[in-house]
Amino acid sequence: MPFSKLGLSAEILRAISDQGYHEPTPVQAQAIPPILSGLDVMAGAQTGTGKTAGFTWPILQRLKIHSNTSTSPARHPIRALIVAPTRELAMQVEESVRTYGKYLSLKSTVVFGGVNINPQIKELQSGVDMLVATPGRLLDHVQQKTVNLSKVEILVLDEADRMLDMGFLPDIKRILALLPAKRQNLLFSATFSDDIKKLADRLLNKPVLIEVGQSNAAADMVAHVVHPVDHNRKRELLSHIIKSQDLRQVLVFTRTKHGANRLAQQLQRDSIHSTAIHSNKSQPARIQALADFKSGKVRVLVATDIAARGLDIDELPHVVNFELPHVAGDYVHRIGRTGRAGSSGDAISLVCTEEMEQLKDIERFLKFRLPIKIVPGFEPNQKAVHRPSFETHHKAAVHRPGFEPNHKAVHRESRRPGRAQPHAFRREHSNVAQIASATRPPVPHQAPAQKPQHPHVKKSMPALFLPPAKAKHNA
Ligand code: AMP
Repeated sequence: MPFSKLGLSAEILRAISDQGYHEPTPVQAQAIPPILSGLDVMAGAQTGTGKTAGFTWPILQRLKIHSNTSTSPARHPIRALIVAPTRELAMQVEESVRTYGKYLSLKSTVVFGGVNINPQIKELQSGVDMLVATPGRLLDHVQQKTVNLSKVEILVLDEADRMLDMGFLPDIKRILALLPAKRQNLLFSATFSDDIKKLADRLLNKPVLIEVGQSNAAADMVAHVVHPVDHNRKRELLSHIIKSQDLRQVLVFTRTKHGANRLAQQLQRDSIHSTAIHSNKSQPARIQALADFKSGKVRVLVATDIAARGLDIDELPHVVNFELPHVAGDYVHRIGRTGRAGSSGDAISLVCTEEMEQLKDIERFLKFRLPIKIVPGFEPNQKAVHRPSFETHHKAAVHRPGFEPNHKAVHRESRRPGRAQPHAFRREHSNVAQIASATRPPVPHQAPAQKPQHPHVKKSMPALFLPPAKAKHNA
């Protein structure tokens, strides 16, 4: 579908064209028409799918009639409120609002915690048509009576699952109570736990359900590889990969803040310029770390899941899972930062014996197996391995030289759009598949997600939506 068919004004289309985009992503094509019609929307879409623009463009379009150059605050009441879980995501969403709204005269700002509230108060006082906020700081403004939400016409809850994971449900309920009853509600979430469903029931009125495939366009562009390695040699292997493959702009995930700091320091000692980003760092330090990483000044950014949520780095080529996430869905969030909208990327996972269960969970979640490649010189120590699954796994890989996966072929193939057909993948890469299938129990086949038959009818959750995440994130 061409952009011109979406019903967006010339000003917005011009801003889109300035970005060099050629066509809407699936979530955009599905979400924009109902949002423009004023309907509530519940979208299962993760980062990397183009979801931000999917709600920003139609909101700008709907608010266009209020576009005016007056400096009077009264002419710019908050009409759209976008609530996001983290400062980084909030900043990026507001940056999108400004980018796509640059040919309109609508005002926007962003408020988040960890920084001085006074400049935000000034901005709010000068009038804002679209406000992007994290829940806690928004409530600070409510408390101080420095924000007026009585004119909100459109509410967006972005990455709602993450907000609930972070314990923001009470804050969200308080915010909802402050909004006019008659409004349009848009809820975006990568996963749908029972709590999200409850929230959706309370929030949304006959929502249009939108589901973009589990393996989104971004993920399809990603080449996945798993390197088995002993736990205590992960850092050494990471340095080796970065240096030997001359990787630049590498986003590395650890599970804990402490782990992120330590790894960044160790990489520094290996002469790899690195920095860490996590929620213990001050906001200016996080902004600086991200800017240095984006500009190429820093080669490796080590992040925890929550800190990295929403990071939008154009054409980020490499994501490394130094540790696998506890929650399988976070694997998708992590790799959502690479292979974005048409560019290709690598998702490299360093996996030790202790992480076999997590690896299986991730493969079940993805509905395909991840290619395995042992890096010569980093073969896991089999004597130390007691778990049968990984032991056989290693044996198969190490003792069958003819079955070493062809890394290049795997990369090429797994980048091909539409690759998310596990059986075709397995057939074409029987070398990889034989290692994997000889050693691991089969991943249970799950029926493909059902498409909603009629968008305007409230119905049960699509199969894509997942059961509640059990583990709390450590960020
Ligand atoms: P998001 O899922 O909102 O985090 O967006 C992921 C990335 O896709 C961002 O860098 C956007 O700038 C980019 N993007 C959004 N829409 C399109 C599009 N239609 N074509 C190409 N890139 C896009």
